Amino acid sequence: MTKWVYVFGDGRAEGSARDSHLLGGKGANLAEMCALGLPVPPGLTITTEACNAYYDGGKSFPEGLEADVMAALQKVGEMAGRGFGDPDRPLLLSVRSGARASMPGMMDTVLNLGLNDDSVLAMARESGDERFAWDSYRRFIQMYADVVMGLDHEVFEEILEDEKARLGHELDTDLSAAEWQEVIARYKQTISDELGQAFPQDPREQLWGAIGAVFSSWMNARAITYRQLHDIPTSWGTAVNVQAMVFGNFGNTSATGVAFTRNPSTGENRLYGEFLINAQGEDVVAGIRTPQSITEAGRIESGSDRPSLEKTMPEAYAEFVRITERLEAHYLDMQDLEFTIERGKLWMLQTRTGKRTAKAAIRIAVEMADSGMISREEAVRRIEPASLDQLLHPTIDPAAERPVIGSGLPASPGAATGEIVFTSEEAVDAVRAGRKVILVRVETSPEDIHGMHAAEGILTVRGGMTSHAAVVARGMGKPCVSGAGALRIDMRNRTLLAMGAKLGPGDVITIDGSSGQVLRGAVPMLQPELSGDFGRLMEWADATRRMTVRTNAETPADARAARSFGAEGIGLCRTEHMFFEDGRISTMREMILADSEAGRRAALDKLLPMQRSDFIELFEIMHGLPITIRLLDPPLHEFLPKGAEEIAEVARSIGVEAEALAARIDELHEFNPMLGHRGCRLAISWPEIAEMQTRAIFEAAIEAAKTTGAPVELEIMVPLVGLRTELDFVKARIDAVARDVMAEAGQEIAYLVGTMIELPRAAIQAGSIAEAAEFFSFGTNDLTQTTFGISRDDAQSFLQTYRQKGIIETDPFVTIDTEGVGQLVRIASENGRATRPGMKLGICGEHGGDPASIRFCESVGLDYVSCSPFRVPIARLAAAQAAVKEG
Ligand code: PEP
Ligand code: MG
Repeated sequence: MTKWVYVFGDGRAEGSARDSHLLGGKGANLAEMCALGLPVPPGLTITTEACNAYYDGGKSFPEGLEADVMAALQKVGEMAGRGFGDPDRPLLLSVRSGARASMPGMMDTVLNLGLNDDSVLAMARESGDERFAWDSYRRFIQMYADVVMGLDHEVFEEILEDEKARLGHELDTDLSAAEWQEVIARYKQTISDELGQAFPQDPREQLWGAIGAVFSSWMNARAITYRQLHDIPTSWGTAVNVQAMVFGNFGNTSATGVAFTRNPSTGENRLYGEFLINAQGEDVVAGIRTPQSITEAGRIESGSDRPSLEKTMPEAYAEFVRITERLEAHYLDMQDLEFTIERGKLWMLQTRTGKRTAKAAIRIAVEMADSGMISREEAVRRIEPASLDQLLHPTIDPAAERPVIGSGLPASPGAATGEIVFTSEEAVDAVRAGRKVILVRVETSPEDIHGMHAAEGILTVRGGMTSHAAVVARGMGKPCVSGAGALRIDMRNRTLLAMGAKLGPGDVITIDGSSGQVLRGAVPMLQPELSGDFGRLMEWADATRRMTVRTNAETPADARAARSFGAEGIGLCRTEHMFFEDGRISTMREMILADSEAGRRAALDKLLPMQRSDFIELFEIMHGLPITIRLLDPPLHEFLPKGAEEIAEVARSIGVEAEALAARIDELHEFNPMLGHRGCRLAISWPEIAEMQTRAIFEAAIEAAKTTGAPVELEIMVPLVGLRTELDFVKARIDAVARDVMAEAGQEIAYLVGTMIELPRAAIQAGSIAEAAEFFSFGTNDLTQTTFGISRDDAQSFLQTYRQKGIIETDPFVTIDTEGVGQLVRIASENGRATRPGMKLGICGEHGGDPASIRFCESVGLDYVSCSPFRVPIARLAAAQAAVKEG
């Protein structure tokens, strides 16, 4: 026979904290507290299995459940010295949901169950407070009718308001016992009228109604959405906790409160909490009355003159403090507690591991490790890597109001405020004039780099998480909201239309790249603070991990930022980004538009010193560390002007006819440029580009070594290789130029030539490609795009739908698809290393900064992950956690 019900009370429990899969978090911890001998009102927990059986049986209770519950209730009654349905000493119950993961407020609760026309009289007698008894009864009717019978609670609010007006009362507390009885009569009448059935008087009927309602609330819309957002499987089901009621609203020696064993926002090791005298649990969170501080220190700090629990009820307080210490030492983590004091007697109603800010999480973990409560490894394991984002960027003050005017994808974390500008040129000009701006574009292109650099943050109407704006903004550590589809940009009138508001250049907005929100005006922010605890935790992480962490960077600013965050090299230098700066793009265009090799070489000669000086600076910043430089990759049309106006302007500046330029642009037009003339294909058509880049790299390496004394570890990377012969061809050119430069300088420079693996064919043929490639770097942005056949720039419109409809669980451009793309990475790694044992393997797609993907990289045995500078700390921590898991 399946055991559906677990009893707890009087210092004994059938379950324990280990049973949360069966008893839910709340039930398991109630059992645990009970077994520890703490004062917990007796009760029973119906298992999550019973919930699943309830659904399997078409919403009917499984066989045996009813008998088990009634037998358990008998025991609970004995422990409480009461009887369920007993007219003289009625056992009143709370019925609460409790899933394995906390789902605050998503499911239903019923309190005071067991009250009826008879037991209310017993309650009045026993308490000596008639008003209290009738008020409890009406609360129960209201809650039960709403939760179980489906009658909206507003119906009751209306009746109550009506009665109060009739009686000339302002507050609920003004009603007498007799007046509450009149209200109750109207409540019952309304239930009968509206539902054609009477409010149930039989406690058993009440109980089963409530249990059914809690089970059913597992599938309400709120709960379903919450589970989707938090990746909680439907198959977990909810448990139901049925527990003897204790009353915090039993006069002035009663109270109810919530507490944390440490401060959840700062992590400070001090009891922190609030309570209300003569109130029920819901009143504390409802915010109707202002709660008082539990400790005297907390009262003084908040400047309140209302007494603390420490002063008002010193005995209950002392016991509570002892219990909090015991619970923290038992669970070895900060606890979030609920308690009630009924006529001076303390009861514990809940304990669970408390939610906390990233800052608090780090402080708590470090202090617990320092005090020997937990190991350093455990401290590292406890911090959610993605939460470090909160510490690395300015964030919106949680206390601030949020005047939201739109929302999109949280493409790059942090918040930024500035005036709206619609073009990169305006951004640069405004910033030169000392103003702060947000660059607002339909979408960005590589040409916007300078505007993005200048802006505080970027907002785009189109594009997904791997759109140009998102990738580049993350790289720069700039906040970005992408794909804010409900916003409209009207370029002709230069306005941004957002939820009825019409904004223009100069109007101030704030974007929150951590939530995706767009807000009107300047919103107060908190600045990042990389405290000593953060540094220590990161040191512990570094001591634990196997993989190294590099960064994707090409500008000196990014490289410096990444080093300060602990990057151990550059895993991807996208050289094309170096050509977009002022003065370079026109030379680049000259090169692209030239119709002969000689023309191209002339332009390349002008680009050479620019590239070389960029590389020198980068090598100096990263001296001694490995740097992977990728040859030019994107389709060339990205560098070309668009639209008649821009074409005319460029034609003027390079001294050709506008028509001739337009015709050449037409010639270069591609239907599907992402699969077109890009990557190593450029180096094969026009090898002089790769040659110029190689020369710049080697000349820079020789130059930089003179100043730093530490030669860079050079890795030259060829993009988008599919065929071994492609790599052979390009590598021969690289080697030839390298030989020339070294001969000219009379100096040897060690270097490796490798390839990106970003096409399925390359992954499958990795064994053969590794004969030529000295390292592989997985470009999982393109590899995801080409494996799925889904454009990384257009996917967002339907991937959202896919997620909503359950076709996919996560965006494969964010978290690596281990079954498909991941398999290709695995095959390529194994076959590559079979050909070339010990071959260096890394990842430089966006997945390199995603904790779940980093776990996968560890399992494949990659040597390093490379990510945007601001994700370096996240990657360091995630790599450490992955190493602990794998080891
Ligand atoms: C990739 O494809 O994963 C990659 C890193 O290259 P890019 O994003 O520049 O195409
Ligand atoms: Mg790529």
